[in-house]
Amino acid sequence: MKAAGINSQQIEINTLIEQINGLLPQTQCGQCGFKGCRPYAEAMVEGRADINQCPPGGDEGIAALAAFLKLPFKPLNPAFGIHKPKQVAFIIEQDCIGCVKCINACPVDAILGAAKFMHTVIAFECTGCELCVAPCPVDCIIMKPVAADRGSLSAQEKSALAKRRYEAQGLRKAQEAAEKAERTRAKKAALANMKLST
Ligand code: SF4
Ligand code: SF4
Ligand code: SF4
Repeated sequence: MKAAGINSQQIEINTLIEQINGLLPQTQCGQCGFKGCRPYAEAMVEGRADINQCPPGGDEGIAALAAFLKLPFKPLNPAFGIHKPKQVAFIIEQDCIGCVKCINACPVDAILGAAKFMHTVIAFECTGCELCVAPCPVDCIIMKPVAADRGSLSAQEKSALAKRRYEAQGLRKAQEAAEKAERTRAKKAALANMKLST
């Protein structure tokens, strides 16, 4: 049946995307030109992106992608950035004005704080994506190199953790957007009812 054929083809594509996504570092930094690792994996599968666009993955990541996709290795394209040692964000807390801009920028919910209160980074959860640095209006977020032996998780376990947190944030944001849309719809319906009854 045609519909079943389309479904199984889509399942195969989704599986391939997930496998490629699993080879990416899950820093979720967007340096590849896409809004996260999975969108980059999708673009590779659809032929819209090359295998050498992820600076955090570096040559090691490209080699893994090349081997998996049975493609020749090519070095990191410097147009997308350079490979740097692992970093973690650090907030100079006495300078923080509690504007929450960094919280909104963090793709893995690794920053704790509330409006008008000091913020802090959960170093263990931070992927080092640097997305919180530019939005800070008082430049109180700095990046620090991570000690090679930091934490008890392997690189793969840290990537898996970042992937879970990124996906959880995506679900939360989708739910918040749906709730907001529902509140707007209910408000408009109530206003329309009021107009009808006057
Ligand atoms: S780590 Fe950054 S550059 Fe690499 S795939 Fe993920 S979002 Fe793109
Ligand atoms: S704290 Fe900053 S550097 Fe760390 S993951 Fe969040 S946005 Fe990225
Ligand atoms: S963006 Fe900077 S000032 Fe604003 S809450 Fe974050 S660390 Fe504090």
